[in-house]
Parts: sequence; structure tokens; C-alpha cells
Amino acid sequence: MRRGVLTAIDGVSFDIGRGEILGVVGESGAGKSVTGAAIIGLVDPPGRVTGGEVRLAGERIDGLSEEEMRQVRGCRIGMIFQDPLTSLNPLFSVGDQLVETMRSHLDLSAGEARRRALALLVEVGIPAAEERIGAYPHEFSGGMRQRVVIALALCAEPELVIADEPTTALDVSVQAQILALIKRLCRDRGTAVMLVTHDMGVVAHTADRIAVMYAGRLAEVGPVSDLINHPLHPYAAGLMGAIPSLEQDASRLVRIPGAMPRLSGIPEGCAFHPRCPHAFDPCTAQRPPLIEGGGRQVACHLYERPSEAEQ
Ligand code: SF4
Repeated sequence: MRRGVLTAIDGVSFDIGRGEILGVVGESGAGKSVTGAAIIGLVDPPGRVTGGEVRLAGERIDGLSEEEMRQVRGCRIGMIFQDPLTSLNPLFSVGDQLVETMRSHLDLSAGEARRRALALLVEVGIPAAEERIGAYPHEFSGGMRQRVVIALALCAEPELVIADEPTTALDVSVQAQILALIKRLCRDRGTAVMLVTHDMGVVAHTADRIAVMYAGRLAEVGPVSDLINHPLHPYAAGLMGAIPSLEQDASRLVRIPGAMPRLSGIPEGCAFHPRCPHAFDPCTAQRPPLIEGGGRQVACHLYERPSEAEQ
């Protein structure tokens, strides 16, 4: 930027297994979407990736040419965004878009691609798919359009799907159906999913593991039930306390005081320290490393061995 280099994501590292859904959560500005964009090589200029690696099935994809990356995006990585209209071309029928995408990535005849497109529309729950395959995006409701986008994201049989706030624009009842659909299809196909959302309720019901981000860094990573029931990082505890529950009184909902820092003003030491109720001496000066143990990772001085925190 004109005022210097701003670091949007710093030291973020995670993996996602086949058929696994990793929920990447955090408040707006935490760096979730930029992380997804960096993986698929779509960071908006003047942003750029200055270090690190992205590996898909063990193979590095971060140094590919723009053309090679375009192939990877259409074929090996599928994308589902908040607004289905950004993924759909208004000038072509949904059937033509599915057929075109499949044929540009898979060796299929026109007839075979059309047969598969129809099967996929049935699978994602488009009613009367045979009649609607020739319809245009504007002729579908928001929920149905997002189903078409899911079909489009999966049609080339990707190994990874990046879903960035896929249900934020939808009604709550439609949200649940779409999330259940993504979960079922990806599980059945063994597709890895990175589910980016600010909505803790969405990850609680959909993800296998959760990665909590704060100010462009990882705060905590762990299995969904551990993180929801026993969050370690104070920021994760604040986020989990904000999940509404039918069983419990709404008065238990907690608010994290303060706001996420701007990229130009990320505090020294632990980026969360100005908002943290447990901050102590090392927090203002030393950045906590991500410590691993028991299948979980946490970046907080509270969990370091005393000798390490005192250094
Ligand atoms: Fe709070 Fe310190 Fe842990 Fe940061 S490192 S979350 S400030 S206790």
C-alpha cells in the first residue's frame, strides 16, 4: 500500500484431509478469505504471496503459471462463493455452463457431459432437473442457484472445494439444506473442504475441525467438539461463547470487548492482548508460537511450559 507493506496473513499453516471439512472462522478482517484466495492464486493486486507453500495432494501449486493455475482452479479445486451470481454466467443456461466446465477439464463427449450434468442437478436437489437444465441463472431462486453453483464446483471432480461464506446470503432454513448438501456430497466423493465463515453456528454443524484466525494468524486449530466444548485460546473461547443454543439461556451469550485491529496496527506480541481478559507479562512483547498437543494446536502463552513463557 502507499503507506508501506501490510501483512494480511502471517505464518498460517494447516492441512485438510480427503473428505474432511475444515471450518476457518474468525471475525471480519481475520484473514479467512485472503487465506482462501491465496490458496487458489487469486489475491487481489497489489496483494501478493511472499512466502510459504500450497500443496495439493503433495504437489506444490503456488508457483504455477496463470494458465496452469486456471486449470487447477477449474478442475482440481472447486469454489463456492457467497453470491452465486459471481460464479454463474447470466448469458448461458445452467446446463450449458455445467457441460462447458466438464468438457474443458474432463475428456467427455457432449452427450456424456450432458448426461452427467443432469445427474448432478438431480443430486444437488434441483426439482424437475430435466426441464430446468435449459433454464438461465436468473430463473432460479437464491437457494436453487447456490445448488447449481455447488454442482458447478463439483462437476470436474475436484480434490478440494473452497466454500467462502456459501450460505450467508440465504434464509436460515435454506442455509441448513445447503450445508447438509455440501457435507454429504464432499463426504461421498472424498473431497476436502475449506469452509470459510464468520458464523460459528455453521461450523458447529458442518465442520470436522475448526481453525480459528485472528488478525491474520492462527489462534487455535482442533476437532470441532473439542473446540466448541473446551476452547483453549481466550479468543476462541469468546467466539464459542457467542454460539446461540436452543437449550441454554441467551444470557450466557458473551461479547468479546473491543474490535479486531487494522492491518496497519496489529499489536506487538500476541495480537489479541488488548482484548484478552487473561493477558499477562509476556503477551505484550512476545508473539506466542503455535504449540501442538493432543491433536490440537494453540497459540497462547497460557499453554507454554513456564520456562518457555519466561524466556
Ligand atoms: Fe491472552 Fe496472552 Fe494468550 Fe494472547 S497469549 S490470548 S494475550 S493470554
